[in-house]
Amino acid sequence: MAEKTPEEMREAVLAIREKMAAAAREAGRAPAEVQLCAACKTRTAETVAASAALPIDVFGENHVQELCANFDAGAYCGKPSHFIGHLQTNKIKKVLGRASLIQSVGSEHLLTAIEKEAAKVGIVQNVLLEVNIGGEESKSGVSPEALWPLLDAAAAQEHIRVKGLMAIPPVNDNDAQNRRYLAAVHDLFVKAGERGYSNVEMQTLSMGMSGDYENAIREGATLVRIGTAIYGERDYRKR
Ligand SMILES: *Cc1c(COP(=O)(O)O)cnc(C)c1O
Repeated sequence: MAEKTPEEMREAVLAIREKMAAAAREAGRAPAEVQLCAACKTRTAETVAASAALPIDVFGENHVQELCANFDAGAYCGKPSHFIGHLQTNKIKKVLGRASLIQSVGSEHLLTAIEKEAAKVGIVQNVLLEVNIGGEESKSGVSPEALWPLLDAAAAQEHIRVKGLMAIPPVNDNDAQNRRYLAAVHDLFVKAGERGYSNVEMQTLSMGMSGDYENAIREGATLVRIGTAIYGERDYRKR
């Protein structure tokens, strides 16, 4: 399939970083404010390790099994790893200690389950709350209105610290509509920060993927999650 060679991967990441920097400057922001998270689902540990030498800030994993395999093999080469996918409560234990940030907390059920496991091992787990900004049934995350009760619940947990928001806006060919969704998430991010919760710090706004990361940065993203544009098309048959 279209998996990239190491040299192609290097060129891709350098080009992405240039576009990221340009989008940041366009928005009057410093390029250093925006992190590149490599979404490495379906890639081999060898590919992940090869990409770790490139200017990637963090690795994002969707599947607990892949997170464990890559983490335990040292494929991230000391770089941080985040969990960005759907997390089943019975697998939380494996994610704690391997993901410095769980980006995809979209329900109170998951939040309280993480609290329980984090308390057991005596750590404070950093999380992002996931917002389903397009109201799509196929996507997880809370509706914008449900973000506030979820924040209330999160603020009351001793072993959880909220570091920001994550969103996957609807796939969209309409540039203006795409930007409206991204801007709406940014608006929630700012409002949440203004509420002054004690263990909530709105530092990270995770939005933007291969198709819309420049728009996401223009609308305030501090972390973009990119897979295809770094590694090439995914081959799910390898699962
Ligand atoms: C796969 C994935 C990405 C990256 O998607 P690409 O379109 O391949 O860049 C980003 N975020 C999440 C949550 C993903 O699952």
